Amino acid sequence: MSKLSVHIETFGCQMNVSDSEQVATKLREHGFELADADASADVILLNTCSIREKAEQKVFRRVNEIKRGRAGRQPLVGVLGCVAQLEGESIFNSSPSVQLVAGTGAADRIPSLLDRVRGGESRVIDLGGREEGADFEISPAVRHSKHVAFVPIIEGCNKFCTYCIVPYSRGRERSRTAFEIVEDVEKLRADGFKEVQLIGQNVNSYRPRVEKGLEGFSGATPFSRLLRAVASTGMTRVKFTTSFPRDFHADIVKAIEEYENLCNWVHLPVQSGNNRILRAMRRGHKVEEYLERVAAVKNSRREISLTSDIIVGFPGETDEEFEDTLRLAEKCEFHGLYIFKYSERRGTPAARLKDDVTKDEKTRRFLSLENLQMAIQSKVYKDYVGRMVEVLAEGFSARSDSDLKGHTTCNKVVNFAASPEFIGKVVRVRVTEAKAHSLFGQLL
Ligand code: SF4
Repeated sequence: MSKLSVHIETFGCQMNVSDSEQVATKLREHGFELADADASADVILLNTCSIREKAEQKVFRRVNEIKRGRAGRQPLVGVLGCVAQLEGESIFNSSPSVQLVAGTGAADRIPSLLDRVRGGESRVIDLGGREEGADFEISPAVRHSKHVAFVPIIEGCNKFCTYCIVPYSRGRERSRTAFEIVEDVEKLRADGFKEVQLIGQNVNSYRPRVEKGLEGFSGATPFSRLLRAVASTGMTRVKFTTSFPRDFHADIVKAIEEYENLCNWVHLPVQSGNNRILRAMRRGHKVEEYLERVAAVKNSRREISLTSDIIVGFPGETDEEFEDTLRLAEKCEFHGLYIFKYSERRGTPAARLKDDVTKDEKTRRFLSLENLQMAIQSKVYKDYVGRMVEVLAEGFSARSDSDLKGHTTCNKVVNFAASPEFIGKVVRVRVTEAKAHSLFGQLL
C-alpha cells in the first residue's frame, strides 16, 4: 500500500499532547507520513478532550468542517482520546463520516487500526486499555518542542472529584516504573533537550508497582524520590504538573531545595475556599490542610511560585461560601490562577445535583475572583522589575520576530530582544517591564 499522510489535531491538556506524540511516533515507525496541515492529508485524527462543556458537539462540528472544507477526495477521519473513550460507538451515528474511534489507551494500536480501515472495514473501534508492557516511546522528531519535553509518569485518576470526568475517560491511576522514566530523561538530555516536564493528572500520587531493584521508589514518598532520581540525571530543568493537595508531601519541597535543577514552581489546584463545597466536590482535603501545604511551599528557602485552579458556582455554592474562596485566594497570593465556571459533565456524580447557581451569578463570581487575582498578580509580576531571571529561550515571541520568548524556572513567560542563535539556551535577562501574565526584559 502507498504511504498515507496523517494530520493530528490535538485538543486539551499536556497528557493529550503527549499521547499525540506517541501516536505520531508509532505512525512514523509504520511508514505513515506526518502532515503539518489538514488541507491535503489523507487521514485526519482528532485527539479530543472532554474537560470542557459540550465537548462532543465541538468534535462533531470540527468533523463537519473538515468534510465541507474538501472539494475532492474526502480524508479518512478518526476520533481519538477522551471523547472517543466516553462516547464510543455513538460517534459513528452522530458523525457518519468518522471511520475510526479509538480511546485513551489505544495510542500503540493506531497504525494497525488505520490499516483495518484501509483494508475495507468501514467502522473500526478500539476502547481497550494500554497493553501490558507497551512503551511510551516518543521520537524527538515529533515532539511539540525541540527544547522542552513532556514525560508522562502516571496515567488516569483515582480521586473521583464529583464534577470531573477524567477518572471515566482515562481510567484508574497507573504509574510508570522509575527506571523507564529516568531512562527517558537521560535520552532526552542526550538529544539536547533542556527541560522535562513530568506530567500526569496527579503527579504526586505517583506510586509504581514495587519491582526488583526499584525498592527505593516504594514507601511514603515515591514521588519526591522520583524527583531526586530525575534531577540526578543532570537535565538542565525539571518541572512537574499537576499536584494533588492531599498527596502533597513536605518532602517534595525538600527535594526542590536540594536540587537546583528542580524548578521552583508548584501547580496545586484548590478548587474552592470553603470546606462544605470541598466536601461536596469530594476533594479529600480541607481548607486548613491546603493552607498547610501552601505554608510549606511559601516558607521554603527557594522562592517557589504557586499557581492553582478554582471552580466558581459549584451546585449549591452560596454567596458566603464564594466569599471564603475570595479570602483563600487573598491569603495564598497565587502567581497564576485558572478560574472555571462550573458546568455539568454528563455521567459525573455532580451532574445529579441541581445546577442552581445562575449563569449571571457564575459570571459575577468569576469576574470578582478574576479582578482580585489580577490585582494580586500585577503586584507579584511588578516585583520582578529590575531583577535578573534565567530564561530558557524556546522560540520567537508572538509580538515580533526580533524578540524571543521563554519561561523562567518559576514558569513566568519572558519576552526579550535577542537573535535566534539563543533559542534552546538558558540565558540571563534583566526584567524591565511587567504585564499581568508576562514579563519583558533585556538580555544580559
Ligand atoms: S484529581 Fe479530581 S479534578 Fe483532578 S483529574 Fe482526578 S478527579 Fe479530576
